[in-house]
Amino acid sequence: MARVPYLDCAATTQVDPRVAELVMRFMVEEFGNAGSRTHTYGAAAQREVNSARERIAATLAASPEEIIFTSGATESDNLAILGLAEAGLESGRRHIVTTAIEHKAVLEPVEHLKTRGFDATLVCPDRLGHVAAGEVLGAVRPDTLLVSVMHANNETGALQPVDAIAEGLANLGDGDGPYFHVDAAQSYGKETGELRNTRIDLISISGHKVFAPKGVGALLARRRRGRRPPLRPLMHGGGQERGLRPGTLPVPLIAGLGLAAELAEAERAERARACRRIRAAALEAFAPLAPVVHADPSRVLPNILSIAFPGLDAEALMVALKDMAAVSNGSACTSERYSLSHVLEAMGLPSEIVSGTVRMSWSHATPAVPWERIADAIGLMA
Ligand code: PLP
Repeated sequence: MARVPYLDCAATTQVDPRVAELVMRFMVEEFGNAGSRTHTYGAAAQREVNSARERIAATLAASPEEIIFTSGATESDNLAILGLAEAGLESGRRHIVTTAIEHKAVLEPVEHLKTRGFDATLVCPDRLGHVAAGEVLGAVRPDTLLVSVMHANNETGALQPVDAIAEGLANLGDGDGPYFHVDAAQSYGKETGELRNTRIDLISISGHKVFAPKGVGALLARRRRGRRPPLRPLMHGGGQERGLRPGTLPVPLIAGLGLAAELAEAERAERARACRRIRAAALEAFAPLAPVVHADPSRVLPNILSIAFPGLDAEALMVALKDMAAVSNGSACTSERYSLSHVLEAMGLPSEIVSGTVRMSWSHATPAVPWERIADAIGLMA
């Protein structure tokens, strides 16, 4: 089957060959169980897990023992949100502030907590897809347990003001103020600066968005004034990951995530430059078609373009482009059941723009994209 250029890196990325080599080594040579304490196979596996923990912690200005390995950002989000539920019930803090544009991996656990007596405020974005820090902070109440705001939206690439929210929470001056969770599945490895803000208590990351394999992620649970967030496990078993995520550690995947994290950090500026060049070329080719481009250009991930062409439906566009590029109409995670994007709807866009939006996303490793040909094909449809 002929392969067209892959423009869906926000859904998943290829594994970096350097990462794949390391993963392979820990699958076929160093295959020990990191929990085995009686032989060198176990020790080698444990060393690699420790090294991955250190590599990831270094990118987030955190301590290695604050990293909990999970199966991906969905699990990390669930652990951050549902894992705090008992603490909320015990302390009487049963209010959550989040946004209407979160991934379902945040919205659904929050929805679930509503069935357990919690109350949630969902802050809406502006028409470009950005929430205002002031609105998030304004929704915080004395009984707010958790504030959860994504760093970069997976459909539009719009960056959210997590730094300003963290500063605002710090200025509340209350050591017991709400926990702050950031779903950084899309921004991790790309916009790590803000994620180093120590008032962000919990950060979810995903391996397969940063050139590591699928099936691995991490939750950073940062100590605040020496105290860990009072998470409770969602599963019970062998006590791994300080009891918060029991189960035999997937050493090859963890090794891969560790190396991918380090590479992303080391190559961050150069990768961003490559992505910005691709975005500029796409926008130049599409300009004559007068598209609607979502997200403020000064506050968007350089590898995501969320775009609508007046009068054109996203489904028809994807069919027309199928032999030219692999694009998507938004989130891969919800595309099994076709429904309109809750993100674009929350932005208050007209329905023809919501149903006309496609997402094109790439990486520094994306080979030349025939933007002019793509633009010509779209132009012929109009
Ligand atoms: N959160 C965001 C913002 C995402 O984009 C995704 C994946 O698309 C997830 C969470 C879920 O990540 P994972 O596939 O690692 O479970």
